[in-house]
Amino acid sequence: MADQKRDYYEILGIDKNADDAAIKKAYRALAKKYHPDMNPDDPNAEAKFKEASEAYAVLSDADKRKQYDQFGHAAFEQGAGGGYGGYDFSGADFSDIFGDIFGDFFGGGRRTTRGGNGPRRGADIRKSVRLTFEEAVFGTEKEIEVDSKETCTTCGGNGAKPGTSPETCSNCKGKGQVVVTTNSFFGTMRSVQTCRECNGSGKIVKDKCTDCRGTGFITMKKRYTTTFPAGIDTGLATRLSGKGEPGVNGGPRGDILIEPIVSKHPIFQRHEYDIYSTVSISFAVAALGGEIFVETVDGKVVYDVKPGTQTGLKVRLRGKGVPTLRNKEVRGDHYVTLVVSVPERLSSEAKELLRKFDAETGDTLNATGRDPKEKDKDKGSKKKKGFFK
Ligand SMILES: [Zn+2]
Ligand SMILES: [Zn+2]
Repeated sequence: MADQKRDYYEILGIDKNADDAAIKKAYRALAKKYHPDMNPDDPNAEAKFKEASEAYAVLSDADKRKQYDQFGHAAFEQGAGGGYGGYDFSGADFSDIFGDIFGDFFGGGRRTTRGGNGPRRGADIRKSVRLTFEEAVFGTEKEIEVDSKETCTTCGGNGAKPGTSPETCSNCKGKGQVVVTTNSFFGTMRSVQTCRECNGSGKIVKDKCTDCRGTGFITMKKRYTTTFPAGIDTGLATRLSGKGEPGVNGGPRGDILIEPIVSKHPIFQRHEYDIYSTVSISFAVAALGGEIFVETVDGKVVYDVKPGTQTGLKVRLRGKGVPTLRNKEVRGDHYVTLVVSVPERLSSEAKELLRKFDAETGDTLNATGRDPKEKDKDKGSKKKKGFFK
C-alpha cells in the first residue's frame, strides 16, 4: 500500500474540527505555495497542489465533508458503499479562492471569468426518501422519481423551430459577454459582463421550437433505484452522479443527491451505531435472577438477569447494534436498561405474601411500619400548619 491516499485533514494540516474559515485559510496557503504557475516544471509541486485541491474540494463542501468523515476515502471511490458514485471535482467552486490568490499576485488581472459562454456544470437535484428504522439498519433499495430535463428531440436541444437555426447574438457578436464601460468619479471603468440578450449563450432563437418553447429541454419523469447501505442515517446523502440538471453550453450534468430521513422506532433509539432500549422486569426476576426476552433488531434474544439486579442497570448486548458503513460485519452494541416494574394491582393474597416477605427479610428500608389504613387518619394532621417544623 505504497500509494495509499493521505488523510484530507492531514494534507491541509488542520484539525478534524476546523471550521470553514480555517479550511479555506489552510488551502489558500498551500495553493499559493504549490500553484503550478508559481512552480513551473516542478511535478512535485503540481502533485501537492492537486492533492490539496482535492482535500479542499471535499472538506469545503458540508455534504462531502460529512461523507468523508463517515466513510473516509471510500466515500468517493467508484461503487463503494453501495450507490456512492465516483467523485469528480467539477462541482467544486474554487473561483472565489483563485480570485483571491490571483488577485494577490496579478493585481486582479487574471480573475477567473464567470458566466460567458464557457461550459458550466448543471445544478444538483436534491431528493429526500423516508426509510424505516430497520431499513436504515440493514440497508435497502428505494426507487425515486425525479423531474429530469432531457434534450428536446424535436429541435435537438438548440431551441429553434425545425427548419430554422439559432442566430448569432448581435449584441455580443456570439461571445456571450460584453464589455461595459462606465464613467465614474474615479474615471472610466471597464468590466466584462454576461450578455443580457442571449444570457451568455451567444445565440438568439428567433423562431422557437414549440415542443420545448425554445428552452431546448423537455421535462420528463425518470425513475432511479438507489441503494442505501446498511448503517445509513438521516443526513448522509447518496449521490447519483451526472443525473442532475443539464449543464449549460456543453457543461456536464449535475448530480442527484438523495437524502434519507430515518423514521423513529417505537422502542429503539439509535445513537451513531449503538441502539438503546428499556425493558421491564419483575421484582421477583430482579431479586432472584432469571431469563428474560429482549427485543433487538435481530429479533428476540434471551438474556440472563443476575440475582440482585437493581432497577436502572444498563446491560450491553455486544454486536447487536447498527452495522457500520465501512464494514457491515462490524456492528455497534445494543444497550438495554432493565427497569424493575412495581405492580399496581395486587390480590389480597399477593399483598399478604409481600407483607410476609417484608417481615421475613426485615429489610423494610425507610418504612414507618404503620398500617396503610391508619395512614389516612394522618393525612389531615400532615396538612396542619407547622407539621414539618
Ligand atoms: Zn425543442
Ligand atoms: Zn449575446
